[in-house]
Amino acid sequence: MKTEKHIDDPDIILIGSGIMSATLGVVLKELDPELKIQVYEAAEGIACEASDGWHNAGTGHAGLCELSYTPDYTDEGEVNVEKAIDIFQEFTHSLQFWGYAARKGIIEHPTDCVNPVPHLSFVHGKDQVKFLRSRYLQMKKHHFFNEMEYTEDREIIREWAPLILEGRDNDAVAMTRMPNGTDVNFGALASELINWLSQQKNCGCATLHRVTDLEEKNGRWSVEVASLKQSKKFITTAGFVFIGAGGGSLSLLQKSGIPQAKGLAGFPIGGQWLVSESPNLVRQHNAKVYGISPGSAPTMAVPHLDTRIINGKKSLLFGPYASWTTKFLHEKGSVLDLPLSIRADNILSLIKVGISNIPLVFYLLRQGTQSMKNRLTELRSFYPAASGKDWKLIDAGIRVQAIKKEDGDAGIVHFGTEVMTNNTGTLSALLGASPGASVSTNIALNIIQKCFPNILQAHAGHSKMKELIPSYDEDLRSAEMAQRQEEVCRAAAQALKLEK
Ligand SMILES: Cc1cc2nc3c(=O)[nH]c(=O)nc-3n(C[C@H](O)[C@H](O)[C@H](O)COP(=O)(O)OP(=O)(O)OC[C@H]3O[C@@H](n4cnc5c(N)ncnc54)[C@H](O)[C@@H]3O)c2cc1C
Repeated sequence: MKTEKHIDDPDIILIGSGIMSATLGVVLKELDPELKIQVYEAAEGIACEASDGWHNAGTGHAGLCELSYTPDYTDEGEVNVEKAIDIFQEFTHSLQFWGYAARKGIIEHPTDCVNPVPHLSFVHGKDQVKFLRSRYLQMKKHHFFNEMEYTEDREIIREWAPLILEGRDNDAVAMTRMPNGTDVNFGALASELINWLSQQKNCGCATLHRVTDLEEKNGRWSVEVASLKQSKKFITTAGFVFIGAGGGSLSLLQKSGIPQAKGLAGFPIGGQWLVSESPNLVRQHNAKVYGISPGSAPTMAVPHLDTRIINGKKSLLFGPYASWTTKFLHEKGSVLDLPLSIRADNILSLIKVGISNIPLVFYLLRQGTQSMKNRLTELRSFYPAASGKDWKLIDAGIRVQAIKKEDGDAGIVHFGTEVMTNNTGTLSALLGASPGASVSTNIALNIIQKCFPNILQAHAGHSKMKELIPSYDEDLRSAEMAQRQEEVCRAAAQALKLEK
């Protein structure tokens, strides 16, 4: 979707049209219909970077199947499931907001955006089975996961996900299953949200417009924008700027000059998927099945075999594989992105992170140079009977792993999604990728609480927010909230047509 609509003197400028800007823009406009909001997008279309349907796995991350969210053990030696519980609650904010947007017609085609797909975890080998059993027993105690099923029985696994067992040896196996998982096309979702936003009074969206610089002057941000069609630049100003530029966020943060950006660096890791459209395979697999990252692989490289539903068509996706790149963006990126991001204040952190993550560096080297034969070997450790003729390799999105100065020893791969806000609350930026798009509503909520407290404190703002995200000021994690959680999730599922 190409679009060009400019408004004068916006209150808010959103840089980028991915799921993060789209969500923040719609939530703010709903809270205060008088707000003037302008979106600038460098690419020709809406949400065609990390949020694009094929550039991410589309997993509605709710902690149901991702084993990397439960890596720790409690003092009693059981798997610690707290992080999964937190992510579930954050995901319910997205689900409720999407449900609201569907009821109000902001999202016109909910089934193009979100579909029900069971979330499964699969392990093999005695140690992994022990881990999954403990994780299941801990999760099952919590009302968020009371529908979780566990099995070590091959016949049941064959029923749930037959491809995983086809041609497999006799090693011990186990699987958990949550029926209420989702597959989300974040690109379609962002497009619907931006489309609605740009049709509202005092709101505009201009594609092929790249923000090239920004500076705070007398409490307002002066933003330099390049029209890529007309090769000319202009300046516009706004009281608040959100840098939701994905891989482009780091360089804009550096240009903004806010103290929080000092020492920040970024390292891009490209992604790739194997995709199959074979009707025979697609018919047999209806699930997102997550395993455990092999050896030195970072948590983001957890292998998974997923049903995807994009433009109404089902297909299978396996990966991710890492690839080398120095670009921070696919469409409007340049091979100079990485070298140009290196500054005197971040070069030491980059070197330090490299040295303290030697296994990761070797992992990336191996991944970046691997052949199709090796990629199929990885696929076969998941789906042993896979045949090369059914699969093709495609590019996924680029993750720019953010590195903070004090992160030196902590390493890049442990750095999740982080919102950076300046001291006056007039600029926010989003860095990092995981759990990413799934918790975009929770991220928007945090930004609004920090930068627009007046809107929420006003009676009208609070009650409107209760309409958008009914549980936004409630803690659904406590046992007495089980019924409330079921209630809000069921209402959202109905609006999104997710119910079986
Ligand atoms: C391989 C991979 C798999 C993933 N899997 C999942 C998953 O299963 N579930 C999940 O929830 N998340 C997943 N994620 C994370 C998720 O994709 C991201 O968190 C999310 O899409 C980020 O959205 P965004 O709006 O911040 O960025 P983007 O979608 O990248 O949007 C940023 C936009 O800003 C534009 N832009 C950049 N610079 C400028 C500029 N200077 N001026 C104007 N516009 C600019 C870009 O063109 C782009 O359209 C995955 C990510 C990757 C890479």
